[in-house]
Amino acid sequence: MPLDVLIIGGGAAGLSCALVLGSAKDKDFAKDKAIAIVTHQKTSHLQNALFNNVLGLQPGTLGSDILKEGKNQLSDLYPHIIQIDNEKVVSIMKNTEGYIVQTNKANYQSKVVVVAVGYTNLITIKGLEKYIEPHPRAAKEKDRIWLKNTDHLIEDNLYVAGTLAGWRSQFTMACGSGSHVATDLLTLWNDGKHTKVHDKT
Ligand SMILES: Cc1cc2nc3c(=O)[nH]c(=O)nc-3n(C[C@H](O)[C@H](O)[C@H](O)COP(=O)(O)OP(=O)(O)OC[C@H]3O[C@@H](n4cnc5c(N)ncnc54)[C@H](O)[C@@H]3O)c2cc1C
Repeated sequence: MPLDVLIIGGGAAGLSCALVLGSAKDKDFAKDKAIAIVTHQKTSHLQNALFNNVLGLQPGTLGSDILKEGKNQLSDLYPHIIQIDNEKVVSIMKNTEGYIVQTNKANYQSKVVVVAVGYTNLITIKGLEKYIEPHPRAAKEKDRIWLKNTDHLIEDNLYVAGTLAGWRSQFTMACGSGSHVATDLLTLWNDGKHTKVHDKT
């Protein structure tokens, strides 16, 4: 099935993007969209992080728990978001319908792709080489990278989120970046009318 959006990466930015898109399920302009996330988490910087400085998180929260619980939150609240487990993206190629994303196991066609795979220079996804530059907001000796973008947009229908979008590595900034991309997409689907999703008491 062709997708409307495929998010790549199950870390802070990717899961946040998926949760905000999922939360728009009752909006007319979003309810029929096919959305998926490649929930690869093995190399997430959350794997060995410990959080004391994040508003709303109990001090001592483990990043590894956030990874597990984030996937559960997504499947419990927004089961229409397809989670693609145990796959790693190897290439992203443009075609007339959008992008073909190839993993180690399958190919996916998607109109829009959101790349949220973190800012390590170990990135091996073919098709992204021409956008890779030194990270503008990280210590030089760390050799971090970003994908050159303007306000998260790399080129038509290709977005980047999280540390790889050029943000400094703080959990809330990565989550905010993923949410930002999600609301940009919702705004586009809503004919350009600015959109957010709030639940109320
Ligand atoms: C030890 C440590 C402690 C930290 N402590 C704090 C702290 O106290 N406070 C704070 O605010 N921040 C902290 N951070 C920073 C925080 O964890 C990061 O800013 C945040 O995880 C970045 O989110 P991201 O989505 O950009 O990347 P990540 O969370 O790293 O997510 C990237 C995801 O992409 C996946 N991926 C990679 N390659 C592929 C591929 N080819 N195909 C599919 N998926 C792929 C990875 O498996 C991963 O799940 C800490 C980080 C570390 C390492």
